[in-house]
Amino acid sequence: PTLANWRRVDDYLAAALLDDDPALTTARRDSLAAGLPAIEVTPLAGRLLELLARMTGARRVLEIGTLGGYSTIHLARGIGPEGLVVTLELEQRHADVARANLERADVAGRVEIIVGRAADTLPHLAERLAEHGRADAAADPFDLVFIDADKESNALYLDWAIRLGRPGTVIVVDNIGRAGEVAEPDSVDPMVVGTQRGLELLGSDPRVDATALQTVGAKGWDGLAIALIR
Ligand code: SAM
Repeated sequence: PTLANWRRVDDYLAAALLDDDPALTTARRDSLAAGLPAIEVTPLAGRLLELLARMTGARRVLEIGTLGGYSTIHLARGIGPEGLVVTLELEQRHADVARANLERADVAGRVEIIVGRAADTLPHLAERLAEHGRADAAADPFDLVFIDADKESNALYLDWAIRLGRPGTVIVVDNIGRAGEVAEPDSVDPMVVGTQRGLELLGSDPRVDATALQTVGAKGWDGLAIALIR
């Protein structure tokens, strides 16, 4: 098996399972044209995010790592018109591209993009939660969290995700396989080390139950972790 095979099967599965989707196709194309890196989730993985939102009945979703809003569109579709996705992005330029893509996909009204380092903006979300409690729907705990930003900070983001969630909240962490390097105990790659720290937290923290699956697909050999807050 090679990357070419995995791509071919991903293309086959996408053709078999996914409809043509002009808003998503344009979002990818415009993100590329704007010079953003092509590191968004694949169409099939995006669909998984949408379905997870629907399966869990999520109304409030937190995303860390917006890029051009490709995964955000899927999450926003999954929560329906009454829901809210709060998505955190470091780069203003990425947020601007995402905003245009979300508008074109007709979901901008249910997405709040917060620009800044997530390590700085996450505490504000916690303050909102503390101030308003359950009296304010906009400040309710998150039902679903998707972590897909700087992998070095995964453990920090997981801790915040748990604090901003509630029992039953689902947390998804992308890119945990890292072409197999995640199993390398002496890795010095900060993204691998960050990923390992996140997985260690998921395995040892009494607040969550978690599992992870390796994946092969259009983006090579990788994987995702899924956790449930107890
Ligand atoms: N979730 C997106 C998708 O699938 O369409 C892809 C996100 S991309 C892999 C990671 C994003 O995280 C980039 O846009 C990057 O600018 C952003 N990022 C990196 N470090 C960050 C930080 N400290 N805080 C917030 N966002 C960050």
